[in-house]
Amino acid sequence: MSSVNAFFSADYQEARHKFREAVLRAGATPLRYPHSGRGPRGESLTTDAAIVGDIALPNLVVVTTGLHGVEGFCGSGCLVGLLEQRLLAERNVDTAVLLVHALSPYGFANLRRVDECNVDLNRNFIDHHRPLPRNDEYRNLHDLVIPESWDGPLRQAAEIGIRSYVEENGQRAFISALTKGQYEFPDGMFFGGFSPAFSNVLWRQLLNEFGSQRRRVCVMDVHSGLGPRGYGEIQFEDSSSDREFERAQLWYNGQATAPDKGSSSASLTGFSATAVAETLPDAERTCVTLEFGTLELDQVLLALRGDHWLHAKNSDDERLRAEIKQRMRDAYYCEDPVWKRDVVTRASEVFKQSLKGIG
Ligand SMILES: [Zn+2]
Repeated sequence: MSSVNAFFSADYQEARHKFREAVLRAGATPLRYPHSGRGPRGESLTTDAAIVGDIALPNLVVVTTGLHGVEGFCGSGCLVGLLEQRLLAERNVDTAVLLVHALSPYGFANLRRVDECNVDLNRNFIDHHRPLPRNDEYRNLHDLVIPESWDGPLRQAAEIGIRSYVEENGQRAFISALTKGQYEFPDGMFFGGFSPAFSNVLWRQLLNEFGSQRRRVCVMDVHSGLGPRGYGEIQFEDSSSDREFERAQLWYNGQATAPDKGSSSASLTGFSATAVAETLPDAERTCVTLEFGTLELDQVLLALRGDHWLHAKNSDDERLRAEIKQRMRDAYYCEDPVWKRDVVTRASEVFKQSLKGIG
């Protein structure tokens, strides 16, 4: 398989097949973890994985994909690219590699960013025994971003409502209110869930199974839908310590960004890296999100709003449904050879930097 295009797939089933074939060709054994989510025809789905290197090795580099379902199109292409380009062979003798394909397969198969319970997994890693984080601003926006109807006067009124919110509070406040996570509207956007999601538990299980004996662990979590088109931004999360951030800057040539560092008011809650710290407290941890840009942010948000509207109102308009699904796919995955080449090149570069850094 030589063409970069061939690393990517048209749907979840093809992606899963390509990943497993590439794992076999790399001489490893594909692992499968049955998932609670179901595909569009009710079919069962799995998270797939592969471990290369002995369980006793001190270092582990993990690449996770599809935490946000539909973003698995991008992540799957990256994993197949790493395998087919034989980049795992560049690890040193002390390093094992764990690849995770479609951590949340429901959204991949059904073209959604959330899981089967409408949960945004990257807002789900909170302490569910404590009072849930509040997001009062979202409460004002919920009925506007998910209006009663997607067409006609009710939609127009909602758009006017959003415009006046933005005029009054600014675009930044609008984006923050939407995206920082909310724990009140189960059919809403960026809903963090009332309890640990299936994939949250599975992620901890994988970390325990493959990470518990390691001295050093690096996690590269591949996402799409934010930032400049085709560029993979290395993002740090608020929960990371200064020492971890400095280490990442060293590994990744000063390219890691931490947009929320120091500003607690706008910070996002419940990131998956929390589970790495909780599950592997004694390991030296370097966790980064590799975020690939696709379309402009307003186009991505509009696609997401459509998806949530479709889910919340359960429309039986087939034409509208197909249009909204296509828009979701386009918002997180670009059918463009240049984008695919850029994605694979960047993912390969960051993966090699991770191997070098940990070794
Ligand atoms: Zn994402």
